[in-house]
Amino acid sequence: MKKSKLIKRFCVPDEYRNEFSTLNAKNNSVAARILSALLITSVLLTIFYYYAFTSDGWSKGIFEQIMPLNITCLCISAAVFVSLYFINKSKLPLPHVSEAIAFAAAATAIVYAAYSSHLEITVDGIKNINLAIIMFFAIGFFLHFRLVATLALELLLALSVAFFMYVGRHEITNLIPCVVYLTGAYVVSSFAACVFWLMRKDNFVGTKNLELIASYDKLTRIRNRRSFDLYFEQEWHRLCSSGESLALFIIDVDFFKKYNDTYGHQAGDKCLAIVAAVIADSVRKSDFVARYGGEEFVAVLSGINNETAEKIAGKMRKELASREIPHTSSVTQYVTVSIGCMIGKPSRMEHSLSEFIMLADSALYMAKNTGRDRFVINPESESKVFDD
Ligand code: GH3
Ligand code: MG
Ligand code: MG
Repeated sequence: MKKSKLIKRFCVPDEYRNEFSTLNAKNNSVAARILSALLITSVLLTIFYYYAFTSDGWSKGIFEQIMPLNITCLCISAAVFVSLYFINKSKLPLPHVSEAIAFAAAATAIVYAAYSSHLEITVDGIKNINLAIIMFFAIGFFLHFRLVATLALELLLALSVAFFMYVGRHEITNLIPCVVYLTGAYVVSSFAACVFWLMRKDNFVGTKNLELIASYDKLTRIRNRRSFDLYFEQEWHRLCSSGESLALFIIDVDFFKKYNDTYGHQAGDKCLAIVAAVIADSVRKSDFVARYGGEEFVAVLSGINNETAEKIAGKMRKELASREIPHTSSVTQYVTVSIGCMIGKPSRMEHSLSEFIMLADSALYMAKNTGRDRFVINPESESKVFDD
């Protein structure tokens, strides 16, 4: 189904969705705890107010009626701002506790709304209900800001309050202002939920886009060295536990200085872009390809053996040869590459990572020294487990 422009505005792009929920889950647990504590306190305070003041004949003036509710609303607003501050800044443990508290706050809100709608079915009474709906906004936090769920729950609360109003309709002294309050509370809290969601989403997607720009090489349109360093380390640690093998290819264009000297730097740039595209097209979509620097590229492939590595390198060289990029002073009449490769099972030792790159690099030197335009796999590949 095609999404409308407005819906798209609220959607997190598919490729970021998992990361976004994980991040929200962490951040919201903090926000939920702060909000929950404030909400429960405010609910208890307001209930206390009704028992302590209205039952034994204290003044029922408008001021006393409204004050605790206003203070409560202020507390909620403050909590929202405080949690905004904490979002992205703290990662406290015990998310389940905060979720349980948020649930308890929601349950209290419903019971309280039911209770007060019977007790005080006047404009002031409805203000309590209004408060309960705003409380439900807090539920969005433990739902990790899933917007649709938040709005649905708020609607559920509004409907349940409407039901209580219907049941006690004969006692309602001022029906229209009550309905106006109820609708207003729902609209305001829904609007707040939408704005909050958009802020979080835009912030996240914006950061992701910047990260993406910072990780790509403008000339060749593949990942850059910075991205490779991050990825390789991450992949290394991941494979330490899985026991899978890791293959690193270093690909270097042969006599590229001469290419620039003969055809000019502009042509050199175009040639590099073609080589990068050829390399990227020769591996699986899940594999990682980057420009290592200058006319050198890297490819990281997990779970492959020497035989597959040889096939992939063959594919790269064959594909490049088929492009027939003229290079009169190279090995053949066309642009060629030399490829060095290392395959092994990573261990948890930090220094092995640079040793691994060094071994792939030395395979590249072997390829260069034995005539270029070839693939050399380091003899230490596969047999060596990097655990010391
Ligand atoms: P070898 O076969 O031993 O690798 O020789 P080579 O000439 O390819 O290696 P060398 O390291 O001597 O030269 C690399 C050349 O790559 C030098 C540099 O001008 C060129 N180069 C590096 N980055 C770029 C770039 O972004 N654009 C262009 N056009 N040339 C680049
Ligand atoms: Mg080089
Ligand atoms: Mg070179």
